[in-house]
Amino acid sequence: MSRRGEVLKEMGFSPVWKLRSVPELSEVIQEQGPEQKSNDIALMDWPQLKAKVAACTDCKLRAGCRQTVFGVGDEQADWLLVGEAPGSDEDRLGEPFVGQAGKLLDNMLASISLGRDRNVYIANVLKCRPPGNRNPEPDEVAKCSPHLLRQIGLIQPRLILAMGRFAAQTLLGSDATIASLRVRVHQYAGVPLIVTYHPAYLLRSLPDKAKAWQDLRFAVRTIESA
Ligand code: URA
Repeated sequence: MSRRGEVLKEMGFSPVWKLRSVPELSEVIQEQGPEQKSNDIALMDWPQLKAKVAACTDCKLRAGCRQTVFGVGDEQADWLLVGEAPGSDEDRLGEPFVGQAGKLLDNMLASISLGRDRNVYIANVLKCRPPGNRNPEPDEVAKCSPHLLRQIGLIQPRLILAMGRFAAQTLLGSDATIASLRVRVHQYAGVPLIVTYHPAYLLRSLPDKAKAWQDLRFAVRTIESA
């Protein structure tokens, strides 16, 4: 027993209660089950959510990527754009859509007077890069989805634009094609959701650029008429 403990015992103050060090939020979350984790994430504010994602090791992806890619943009945006997962450029720079596909996306946004920090927030379903850009796996999506859900809860966007097959199918719980999902207003977490092609796909398939432009105009009309 420490000298202080001995003195307190001597004075009749025993047992001696010690203040435990307060665990970090991430430590608390690591020890919880998946349901409790989702409940906690659903109550987080921006700094807590950013810290949670930065420290996340909930799935196997974090061990193989350089850094988490949380999201970027106006945290009170009307528009939330959702992609699949970080690629190699995003993994290196820590920001979504910074490669060639990102440049195309920026140009498309500029054409409707929006920008990545002008009334737009950009995030991915997954916050960590899958190795070799392989497709995300169901357990990775299940573990990471509460982060995107909380981003939606905090931003409260007026419209979600799901970019590409993976984001669209994941958010809508559907295996339908992009062609059959686009030019319709769906719902996700109570927010209108519109589906369009992934910018990386558009780089390879120029004819569908016109359709993506149509999707953007449809999204603008949807937001304006809401
Ligand atoms: N593709 C995506 O889906 N997201 C990114 O951030 C980059 C490429």
